[in-house]
This record gives sequence, structure tokens and C-alpha cells, in this order.
Amino acid sequence: MMARMHTPVSLSTPASTASPGRLAAPRIDWKQELAEAIRDPAELCRLLDLDPALAQAAAGGHRLFPFLVPRGFAARMRRGDPGDPLLLQVLPRAEELVDMPGFTTDPLDEQDARRAGGLLQKYASRALLLLTGACAVNCRYCFRREFPYAESGATPAGTTAAVAAVAADPTLTEVILSGGDPLLLDDPRLDHLLDQLESIPHLRRLRIHSRLPVVLPSRITPRLLTRLAGSRLTVSLVIHANHAAELDETVATGLTDLTTAIPLRFNQAVLLKGINDSVHALAMLSERLISLGVVPYYLHLLDPVRGTAGFAVPDSRGQELIESLRRRLPGYAVPRLARELPGEPAKVWLA
Ligand SMILES: *Cc1c(COP(=O)(O)O)cnc(C)c1O
Ligand code: SF4
Repeated sequence: MMARMHTPVSLSTPASTASPGRLAAPRIDWKQELAEAIRDPAELCRLLDLDPALAQAAAGGHRLFPFLVPRGFAARMRRGDPGDPLLLQVLPRAEELVDMPGFTTDPLDEQDARRAGGLLQKYASRALLLLTGACAVNCRYCFRREFPYAESGATPAGTTAAVAAVAADPTLTEVILSGGDPLLLDDPRLDHLLDQLESIPHLRRLRIHSRLPVVLPSRITPRLLTRLAGSRLTVSLVIHANHAAELDETVATGLTDLTTAIPLRFNQAVLLKGINDSVHALAMLSERLISLGVVPYYLHLLDPVRGTAGFAVPDSRGQELIESLRRRLPGYAVPRLARELPGEPAKVWLA
């Protein structure tokens, strides 16, 4: 049951209107699709028949953190609706320029968690490998929107140093590929990285944190699937979707194709004001994820990063929403409401 009726707009270039093929045979090249992504808020507003004043308001935020939206993602937005939950995630806002008390550039103290190169460790047994600062979509609420990737080892040299640090630390049993979006590395680079990680005897698990299966499903190439399916590591994938309308048929096809190669699939979402801060929206998201074989893992409370105050939902509201979800859905369909607090031994669960 889809409660929000979406009238898909045809924003796609002719090449990307190809109907989802069976068995991971995307007809569009993901690099081409990325190259053709929308980079001007005014263009998106025009395509969606929105008031040009919205695009003007967007210009300021766009200068701080560039606007970037793949056409396939834009095609899931409703024409003429300035409150569309997908549009709200990506359209820059004038308020991003206004400093708010408590909202800073690095609220998670991530710079303190750096170990070597692009390796970030805060918790026992697992560490995060920052591979790139690039994403296929720029989410306005992003907690790393001002992250200094270049100085933080998210570079080929930083990756080499990070792999060496993992190899030297037998307490690490899981590596999490992160970014930016780690799947923006092309197949040969990922191949090489996997070879290196698989040769570290104490490493057991590889986790991939990526929004590409949602925003650029053409990235799920047969070559990628074959490589992951052949890994000796237990591979898991954590996608990032905040609203059921993000998960259209192209996404569904990609996720189905991933099933064999990646047996463990999870979602993380961020609780966002005006986008998914209702029981209805969260229940629809969980239902859709479960129907696609993806377990709702985390619902993150917004990290107070400068420029994102307009998305904040009070913790108490988050807790109420989770309680309501628990009354409606099976336990495995209820995400953990989490907040990251610097210095804690794990993410803090608030519900
Ligand atoms: C979120 C995060 C993890 C993963 O935590 P899990 O609770 O295992 O999902 C690992 N390392 C860092 C630095 C993180 O921020
Ligand atoms: S995909 Fe993730 S890292 Fe990239 S902009 Fe969005 S929230 Fe930030």
C-alpha cells in the first residue's frame, strides 16, 4: 500500500529510461549517469514546475555545499510539490547559511578518532575506512558536509596507510567502507582493495555503507556482484533511505540482484523534520524495506552539524515515534533510534 501517490516525472535522459532488466544488467553506465546528474538547483526547480524563488533561495546553500542530484532520483519526486520528501532532502535552503547555537562543523569529534590514513576507529573490533569524499547525491542534512576529507586520508595514499594499520591490529575483525560513498570507487580500485583486505588473516567481515543502491542503482554492476559474492569475508551492506518513495522499482531490482552476493542488508535513516518525522512515514519506510529484504537498522537522530538545524527533530519526539512503531510492526522492522556521542563505547540507543 503506497499512501503517498507519486506521479513520476520523466526527467530521465533517454538512455536511463530503459526498463529495469532482469539479473543486474543495467543498460546505463553508472559513470555516465553520474556525469549527467543535475548540478543546478534552478534546473531541478524547472523540471519539477516549482516556483523559481525556491531556486533563488537555494543559491546560497549551494555555494557552501554544492547541489547534486542524479536524474533517476529526481524522477521519483512529485512535480509541483515544494514539500516533496525527496526534494526536501536535496534542495539547498537559505537557512543553511545561518549559524545556530550548538551546531558545529565536527560535532562527532571525528578528527580525534583518526588512527592512520583514512581509518577512523571509535568502537571495539570495527573501524571505518574513508575512501573518498565524493557522493552521488548531496544530502543537505549530511553530517560530513564540512568534513575535511582531503586532510583525513580519504585518498589512495590514505587508503594504503589505513590498510596497513588494519593489518597490524588483530583486534580489528570488521572493516566498514565509508566516505563519502565508497561505491564511487570504480570496480578495479574496489577489486584491489578487497584483495588487500582479504589477505589480512584476522579480518572476518566487510561492511559497505553506501547510498548508491538508492540514488544510483546502475552502480550495482554484474562485475561488482561477482566480486563481492566471491569474497571470503562476510559482506554486509548498509544502504541509506529516509522515505519509502526513494525505493522505486529500479531500486527494488538492484536490491534483488544483490541478494545472493550480499546476504546481510540493512538500512540506516536519519530522522528528518518534515520528511519522515511521522509514524506513517516511518512505518511505510520499514514496510517497504522489509519487502525488499532490507532490515531497518538505525534511525539516527540528526548530528548537529552547522547548516542543518532546519532538519532537527527533538529526541523526545523520536522516542515517541519509535514507541508507536513498536505497537504497529514486528520487532525486526523497528529501527534502533541512535545518537552518536563523542567518547561513548558504542552508539547510544535512545529507544
Ligand atoms: C557508526 C560507526 C560504526 C558502526 O557502528 P555499529 O554500531 O557497529 O553499526 C563504526 N565506526 C564508526 C567510527 C562509526 O561512526
Ligand atoms: S550520501 Fe551520505 S555522505 Fe553523501 S551527502 Fe548524503 S548523507 Fe552525506
